[in-house]
Amino acid sequence: MKQSQAKAMIDDESLIDAGPLLDKEPLIDNEHWLNVAQRCPSPNFNHRPEDEISLLVIHNISLPPKQYGGPFVQDFFCNRLDIKADPYFAEIAHLQVSSHLFIRRDGTIIQFVPFNQRAWHAGLSHYSGRDNCNDFSIGIEMEGCDDESYTDFQYASLQQVTVLLIQAYPDISTDRITGHEFISPKRKTDPGRAFKWQRLFTGLKC
Ligand SMILES: [Zn+2]
Repeated sequence: MKQSQAKAMIDDESLIDAGPLLDKEPLIDNEHWLNVAQRCPSPNFNHRPEDEISLLVIHNISLPPKQYGGPFVQDFFCNRLDIKADPYFAEIAHLQVSSHLFIRRDGTIIQFVPFNQRAWHAGLSHYSGRDNCNDFSIGIEMEGCDDESYTDFQYASLQQVTVLLIQAYPDISTDRITGHEFISPKRKTDPGRAFKWQRLFTGLKC
């Protein structure tokens, strides 16, 4: 996609109420950070073995499950989850995981890992004849759960970010966007039936 086309999509009037993203023109900088995202650097990343970025993987997470707005996802992805804060946390606190982005219910975006690095979001996974999707994908976590509608703010932020990512990393095309449930079908169910794929793709207009 040409830069002008991407910009036109970002300027779409339907996104006027998109929330925090529109405070300044969003872009991905030379260090592979999204300028409108809050930065919460995670130690859970390493190098991509082939420097390839050709897939977008959508997830969901909420901590504790189905509770929104707290600091616990950031804490989890930065290996500082307080196991005394909730009984569930003892089950997961030992895991070392991350994503590139986390989109909160209000549309706010938090970035943990620069896009050119390999975040640890997919685990055992398979896409189009290849294993280990972390090697070549960008992971986006939507704050939510499989069976509760995502917010308008979240779809607006996700659409804008997806346009930017396709522009910055053209090997990600609209037909190379998938969900964790599809690349790890026996282990994972996110982003779940609540996620409206058509709403994402309609918003992309490409
Ligand atoms: Zn997932």
